[in-house]
Amino acid sequence: MTFIIATNNAKKRVELDRILNPLGVEAITAKQAGVDLEEVEETGSTFEENAQLKAIAACNLSGLPAVADDSGLEVDALNGAPGIYSARYAGENATDADRIEKLLEELREVPAQQRTARFVSAVCCVFPDGRKIVVRGECEGRIAFAPKGEGGFGYDPIFLTQSGKTYAQLTSEEKDAISHRGLALRKLAEQLKLILEEKMEDKEIDE
Ligand code: IMP
Repeated sequence: MTFIIATNNAKKRVELDRILNPLGVEAITAKQAGVDLEEVEETGSTFEENAQLKAIAACNLSGLPAVADDSGLEVDALNGAPGIYSARYAGENATDADRIEKLLEELREVPAQQRTARFVSAVCCVFPDGRKIVVRGECEGRIAFAPKGEGGFGYDPIFLTQSGKTYAQLTSEEKDAISHRGLALRKLAEQLKLILEEKMEDKEIDE
């Protein structure tokens, strides 16, 4: 089954594709689907609402089932910030390095035990007939005192996992196995399986 991945973030797209492919899902980009997926305004107040906004927009434009992820980092010492504002934490045109610098500065006086945080990913899959799946994955960790590692993207170099390595120090496979997005997508796969089986049964009944 072909799905459109509703994101313009190239690194996130690679991750979504890598995790969805083994699940038997052919994931194509908006460009491959021949649609111009403009940045959807994230006006929701939760990760789930924003993921739905993005998936519905892509599904309506392409006529294909669409998968979208909305994700971010919740830092306990900052009362859950940057949360749903993770992408815009240091302003509109800031880089990953700017966002990391701002977060480390905010946490400069915070000791190791109080630097607990979690990555959250809400994934929404919408079908043209209106059916919808929404799932959430979370990964608990801590914010490091300095960036470490070359892999991944975004806040990866400062997110210390329970193994003591940052997300950026893990291989792609190691990150997928424990990451918020990996977890959410595996939940999505379980529910997709049920929907696809149901579709097959409907077809058999029709025949
Ligand atoms: P959005 O989901 O496109 O709104 O962006 C989420 C923000 O969280 C972006 O700034 C990403 O860089 C960051 N983010 C989301 N997932 C990850 C991840 O797996 N690693 C590092 N940063 C992430």
